[in-house]
Amino acid sequence: MTASVTNWAGNISFVAKDVVRPDTPEGLRKVVAGSDRVRVLGSGHSFNRIAEPGAEGVLVSLDALPRVIDVDTARRTVRVGGGVRYAELARYVDESGLALPNMASLPHISVAGSVATGTHGSGMRNGSLAAPVREVELLTADGSLVTIGRGDERFPGAVTSLGALGVVVALTLDLEPAYGVEQYTFTELPLEGLDFETVAGAAYSVSLFTDWREPGFRQVWVKRRIDEPYTGFPWAAPAAEKLHPVPGMPAENCTEQFGVAGPWHERLPHFKAEFTPSSGDELQSEYLLPREHATAALGAVGNVRDAVSPVLQVCEVRTIAADEQWLSPAYGRDSVALHFTWIEDTADMAAVLPAVRAVESALDAFGARPHWGKVFTTAPAALRERYPRLDDFRALRGDLDPAGKFTNAFVREVLGD
Ligand SMILES: Cc1cc2nc3c(=O)[nH]c(=O)nc-3n(C[C@H](O)[C@H](O)[C@H](O)COP(=O)(O)OP(=O)(O)OC[C@H]3O[C@@H](n4cnc5c(N)ncnc54)[C@H](O)[C@@H]3O)c2cc1C
Repeated sequence: MTASVTNWAGNISFVAKDVVRPDTPEGLRKVVAGSDRVRVLGSGHSFNRIAEPGAEGVLVSLDALPRVIDVDTARRTVRVGGGVRYAELARYVDESGLALPNMASLPHISVAGSVATGTHGSGMRNGSLAAPVREVELLTADGSLVTIGRGDERFPGAVTSLGALGVVVALTLDLEPAYGVEQYTFTELPLEGLDFETVAGAAYSVSLFTDWREPGFRQVWVKRRIDEPYTGFPWAAPAAEKLHPVPGMPAENCTEQFGVAGPWHERLPHFKAEFTPSSGDELQSEYLLPREHATAALGAVGNVRDAVSPVLQVCEVRTIAADEQWLSPAYGRDSVALHFTWIEDTADMAAVLPAVRAVESALDAFGARPHWGKVFTTAPAALRERYPRLDDFRALRGDLDPAGKFTNAFVREVLGD
């Protein structure tokens, strides 16, 4: 049977034998122990078949489970259930006087699904959203619980895990004291003569946006922590009106700009929790590569802009600090990420795929690693070269899930099974 569940973008209808929403931990344990193939669906914001269990498998949503968000103010940690989204978590953490170090462009995504794919925000010193995770609680294939914390030799495989080790029933994250952020936007930053490190390091989180129709960046979004020094952004003109990254889309969906100070969780995302993010009708791709190649990589994409710009809504350039998760696209490399929001397309992506391939061949020379949750065609052999710890991850999966209960076609392909 084909389940009538789609992802957020609507470009994927998940194939599954069954879709289940257990409402107790024991109910979830029974589903896992009693099924041969299982995949968890988070908030469904990935653009490919990463969450799909296949015709023999069960797609499990954790939406109906009791909500777990336990803040420990003394230890500055939060234990968060496997189905919780950032919007809910962030409000709760902020009310406790604490904060996460960073957020993605929107708060609507689930925490477990985000860290599973290496989801990130921006900032030269900010790791991916997996960086503050200190402990993972997994419901494994036989229905037993396994806890893997920082310091455990399995930990570098356990957070950015593509959902292939078991059901993440809870994560414990490190927190810090709550902080305020001011967001400033600028227009028309020239690409020529760009000192990427200086511009991207001008504040806590910096995003550059271009449509690749003309060289240069149409917009720059600067998120400045008010407890850190900031000397301004002299390279582009301050925006005259409130901006949306996609021109013509309603800017009221976006978080406050013009330097109005606000809590971290209402400024670090580009989109407000209470609005539908971005344009809704879109596909996305993203590639991470060593930050020192940022300028050369931008030049390489510029060379193929005729193939890219006709199907592009917007391209965003961000930075991510290196981390130690074996499957993280930022593993071992301070990275620059080139993100592409494409137009909506037919199921076979006939319009968008040629542009995806053009970007991939432009970025090949830089060892670009694709975002696991977005559209990519990178060959398994190239992934193997670019992820030096891939076999360590496969060994860990073999230990925790010897029969491959949590492995699907997507995981088999990218791991080269
Ligand atoms: C509008 C939009 C904006 C975005 N912005 C950003 C951005 O700023 N930065 C960025 O890096 N990415 C961004 N993304 C991509 C997005 O963050 C990732 O696709 C992320 O994985 C979404 O989380 P999710 O919960 O929706 O995951 P899903 O797509 O539901 O699942 C992703 C993977 O996680 C697994 N999974 C989910 N929950 C569990 C669990 N409890 N246990 C085990 N496995 C689990 C699934 O099986 C699947 O393999 C954006 C996507 C959209 C649609």
